[in-house]
Amino acid sequence: MSNMGQSHDLRCSNCGYEINALLGIGMLYSAENVFKGEKPLLTELVGDKEISDSVLKAVASGAEISDNYGHELYACPEDFYLFDKFYFKVGEVEPKYHCPYCDNYLQRVTFAKGTAGKTQLKFVDQNKFWQCPRCGNAEMIEFKFCNWD
Ligand SMILES: [Zn+2]
Ligand SMILES: [Zn+2]
Repeated sequence: MSNMGQSHDLRCSNCGYEINALLGIGMLYSAENVFKGEKPLLTELVGDKEISDSVLKAVASGAEISDNYGHELYACPEDFYLFDKFYFKVGEVEPKYHCPYCDNYLQRVTFAKGTAGKTQLKFVDQNKFWQCPRCGNAEMIEFKFCNWD
């Protein structure tokens, strides 16, 4: 895993719907800083106290922290709006983020490369491609920017 994050600007090649997503992890995101200590970063990264409290409690009682945590792209499987959210796995627990626009939980999506600069997004846990929430187009133009920390 890289120890720096990347800023991605993703834009629908048809209608211009876009998201600027910070993906990966920052320099301060050691497991120690994120999950342990007096003020674990997790609370802020997750933005949901109920989720973070239960996870921090699990960590304190010895649950294993998978090392693939970081900001990832999430999409609603119904209306396809995109978000960048903090992913982690502690014991068997992964975060569940509600779509703000409907009753579904957001699901992780990943890059399924097309030609240079153009990409499609695929849902990680199912064989389904993302499409633009505004126009239904499946192709995005991707600009990747310098690292962030
Ligand atoms: Zn579109
Ligand atoms: Zn939704």
